[in-house]
Amino acid sequence: MKAAIVDDELFDGHVKPGHPESPARLLAARRGLSDAASVLGDLWEPRTLAQRECAPEELAAVHSEQYVERTLARIAHGEGHLDADTYFSAGTGRAALAAAAGVCDAATSVLHGEADVGVALVRPPGHHAEIDRAMGFCLFNNVAVAARKVLAAGARRVMILDWDAHHGNGTQHAFESDPRVLFVSLHQWPLYPGTGAEVEIGEADGLGHTINLTMPPGSGPADYRAAFEQIVEPVGTDAAPDVVIVSSGFDAHRWDPLTDLALDPETYAWMTRSASRIARGRVVVALEGGYDLEAVRESLASTVQALALPEGDAPLAQPPSAASPSTAVGEMLRRQRRRLAPFWPVLR
Ligand SMILES: [Zn+2]
Repeated sequence: MKAAIVDDELFDGHVKPGHPESPARLLAARRGLSDAASVLGDLWEPRTLAQRECAPEELAAVHSEQYVERTLARIAHGEGHLDADTYFSAGTGRAALAAAAGVCDAATSVLHGEADVGVALVRPPGHHAEIDRAMGFCLFNNVAVAARKVLAAGARRVMILDWDAHHGNGTQHAFESDPRVLFVSLHQWPLYPGTGAEVEIGEADGLGHTINLTMPPGSGPADYRAAFEQIVEPVGTDAAPDVVIVSSGFDAHRWDPLTDLALDPETYAWMTRSASRIARGRVVVALEGGYDLEAVRESLASTVQALALPEGDAPLAQPPSAASPSTAVGEMLRRQRRRLAPFWPVLR
């Protein structure tokens, strides 16, 4: 399994003491990656991609030129805030540009078959960043910029699977009317940022290509498994994306201090395998949130093992229970199947 890895110590230069979006998160993810590599042995052939800075034109495929220009000028010196939650420090500019470029390069490597899978351990995260606004710890929308990049490089269709506990508002807004990008988000509801209601299903030509699965606090393995079995995998398979880019927040883990979901590392592995089946292996995992360090480490390790190991192979733990979802999740899935069936015959 050839893996394109994105990691660089310059991501550690984005820092504000005491802030939950800290360099320690990336250290935890690195430990998880190395845990997985030692389990996988020869099965895992990682190659770290050369670090580079994303060009303003690449960012402008998602963000407005004014936003890119203004933000780069603002963060070029010193430290401060772009919104109430989103800080910048002396190292932020280089980190943010390398993060966006890294996810782009991992995704194009996988598209072109230079790598089988991609793992991008990047900071700052991206999925809240809007077309013209920094938001929720995010400056540039790494995953959205990468999706545009692979479309420009010849992909016909891309799926963005956002399993971060928060809704990926920026990503949704970037592709709302673009049928080439299937955006599927599973997120705690209600929770910051408040977008991602069930009724948001895309606009114009993109109708049906935005799917929001709203998970009540406490939702766990059986609920996520049902969502994948009933909607995510059938629709994803039908969409037949050339690549799946995962906005991989590990803040849906039961230990996360900022959220109230109840996932475990085994469920992250199980969801990864589903993404793999959808994309016939071509999956790029890009780090978003996740604020419990041990949860990040374990979940990233499980995710990476699931990318590389054949179905059913030990040493991954048991898949999540096939128990029924909660009543609330069962009803939400029924409503979404009905709402989306006109666009996806597989749901009828
Ligand atoms: Zn999050």
